[in-house]
Amino acid sequence: MRTKIVAGNWKMHKNAEETEDLLNDLIDKLPNDVEARVIVAPTFVNLSSAVEHLQFTNIGVAAQNMHQSEAGAFTGEISADMLKSIGVDIVILGHSERRAYFHETDALLAEKVNTALKHDLEVIFCFGEELKDRQSEQHFNIVENQLKDGLFHLEAKAWENIILAYEPVWAIGTGETASPEQAQEMHEFIRQTVKTKFGAEVAENVSILYGGSVKPENAKEIFGKPDVDGGLIGGAALKATDFSAIVAGI
Ligand code: 13P
Repeated sequence: MRTKIVAGNWKMHKNAEETEDLLNDLIDKLPNDVEARVIVAPTFVNLSSAVEHLQFTNIGVAAQNMHQSEAGAFTGEISADMLKSIGVDIVILGHSERRAYFHETDALLAEKVNTALKHDLEVIFCFGEELKDRQSEQHFNIVENQLKDGLFHLEAKAWENIILAYEPVWAIGTGETASPEQAQEMHEFIRQTVKTKFGAEVAENVSILYGGSVKPENAKEIFGKPDVDGGLIGGAALKATDFSAIVAGI
């Protein structure tokens, strides 16, 4: 059985005090009888305190991004080694906001993935089509290419540290969710694409999360689909009651 995962991407929200408050609230409210990994991704400046705060819980901490180089003159950037040195073992790469606003390409993301894996970071690799791609019925092609360009250079063994997150751009922060059927259709396609390249074992073991306007009201139905192994949650991860209710839906 592959692992179920619910991860909260806090994006550029919550200062130090608010981070601490939300973490306390989560410790208080998260159901402890669910068989899912729970991960939160606060901003860089609050990662250290989050790691410390959560050390006696089973809530994991992820970074939202990372630079591809080991070190160097890259003002404002954060390396894999820096993340590991404060106890962060997971990194989100390829989020559509990084692709759109910070011009991260598939080739760059492949480099970031390599650096992260080299440092034993687990990667939550995000990808997904834009609205225009779905309207022109190119969504399967786009997703296949994002997977190929970002991850298909890896060896099968490396997939033990890869979590996939399908996030259709048109569903992120818009209130418009992919229907459970649309999510399942794409997740099945993704698993099949991974299977064709890496074989059944890799494909059956990789967790594929859905992201895009997941809320307490729709989580259970989306998570109920056979190829949906959990979610990457944005807006609804910022409130402990909502995030806990989503986790309870797994
Ligand atoms: P929303 O849940 O706010 O749509 O964001 C999804 C997302 O981008 C998670 O990474």
